[in-house]
Amino acid sequence: RSNSVTAELLTELVNTFGSERVLTEPEDLYVYSYDGAFGIRHQKLPVAILRLKSDEEEKTLKQVSEKYGVRIVRDEWYRKELGDDELPILFVDTKPSIDLDTLIERLGELERDRAERRQALRLIKPLPQWYVSSLRAKDGYRIGERDARDKGYCVVQPFFDGVETYSSKGRLLLSRGLLSGELEASERLVDSLFSCTACGQCYDQLGREELEINNAIIRARHEISKAGKGPGVCRITLRNIHEEGNPMGMPAEDRTIWWEDVEGKFPYSGNDVLYWPGCTTAYRLPGVVEATVKVFDKAELDFGVLGVRERCCGLLLYLNGQWDEARESANRLCHELKEAGVKQLVTNCAGCYYTFSRVYPILGMQPSFSVIHTSQAMEGLIDQNRLHLRKLKRKYIWHDPCDLGRHSKVFEAPRNVLRSIPELKLEEPPLNREHTICCGAGGGLWMYDSDLSERVARSKLEDDIRPLGVDGIVTGCPACILSLRNMASSVLPEVEILDLSEVVSSCL
Ligand code: SF4
Ligand code: SF4
Repeated sequence: RSNSVTAELLTELVNTFGSERVLTEPEDLYVYSYDGAFGIRHQKLPVAILRLKSDEEEKTLKQVSEKYGVRIVRDEWYRKELGDDELPILFVDTKPSIDLDTLIERLGELERDRAERRQALRLIKPLPQWYVSSLRAKDGYRIGERDARDKGYCVVQPFFDGVETYSSKGRLLLSRGLLSGELEASERLVDSLFSCTACGQCYDQLGREELEINNAIIRARHEISKAGKGPGVCRITLRNIHEEGNPMGMPAEDRTIWWEDVEGKFPYSGNDVLYWPGCTTAYRLPGVVEATVKVFDKAELDFGVLGVRERCCGLLLYLNGQWDEARESANRLCHELKEAGVKQLVTNCAGCYYTFSRVYPILGMQPSFSVIHTSQAMEGLIDQNRLHLRKLKRKYIWHDPCDLGRHSKVFEAPRNVLRSIPELKLEEPPLNREHTICCGAGGGLWMYDSDLSERVARSKLEDDIRPLGVDGIVTGCPACILSLRNMASSVLPEVEILDLSEVVSSCL
């Protein structure tokens, strides 16, 4: 079979079905040649992937395949012997993305399995290590077992028409292909890996916490950055952090412009606690700073703020793959905070919390101070009877920010704070805690593709939140607040989007 026949076939497919439905990039062929992300690979690459939508199109495809003598393969082709002929292989993909209802059902199954296994473990103790490992491995391969072409649920994939190259399976394979040298940092690969919120919804579905697919993706971004192939936005972020100390490029001296009085009244000078708002809160959500300070002051906490001396934690550098720069910036910051005598840092920013507690160790650093989230600090103050909260007759949910919840396992502290407010009704969405659906702002996506980020936020509000009929969403991350507030103003204007400190301060 000559290349010209293949070229003619591809031209006819494009003319018949439209170019957006015929995938021929090396990255697409690579991803579709594998079953689940950890699975087997077929020895032959397809010449193209055709995304079919209707039975009517099946008839047209039949005519085209007969004309060119194409071998059509679908779903289970990885395990089939195709013989030695040189017929071009056309992979036909008819599967839509997994929807939210299917995800809820699956995670329910996973929870039941976990409960059964925990029960079994209790009955037959002590277990040999190999047995425990095999149980865990089975979980890891669930996607492969369930369906050879299961893409897993990914919050952004529906906005790419369900194409596997933009699924969690696809991103993990592309990361692996790049890191093993099989693939290059092409435009499509870079686009797929940066169109990810790093939310970790995908590893939650595998039932194995140690498989943090988001970290594999960020590791691959590091490779892209080293090759100088990162998107332009990475260079801008780096420049902003270097020049102004924040990723947005706002003047450093304007950090406290909306809360100068706080800086004047509570300057940090070796207090028990350093309150750290982080860049986004400092510049964009001064009300959260005011509310947090009001709560801490009421509880007579010995705290202070750095004000204009505060600088970015470097999370975006890490997420963009600029690890050397992130390490350098983190080193400097850790040194400064140590010199300032910081013993405990309390932040309302889930991103900062995650960065200090999890990213810095990944970069080879251990801060000399402890880090807690404001929800944990407030829970402690309530436990010590230092805060007495008035009633609030509202129905709220707690939205677990990915960086605080799934990635850091802080689930109960904020819920306990909300439960301690008389008459406040705390609802839970069907997917909560480690299963929470991302708000769309994570992973640097709001910088890389704000339109995509907004679409994720919209679908979360419409599909996940609207059916609950709550008065508000309370959370602990400035990026979540901005993303949800921005979209809620048009989608669910009656729903308030609040930081935990704003709720607590309104009950003092
Ligand atoms: S981390 Fe989130 S956005 Fe990225 S691949 Fe996984 S589910 Fe998709
Ligand atoms: S994680 Fe916090 S400090 Fe870092 S960029 Fe985001 S808001 Fe700023």
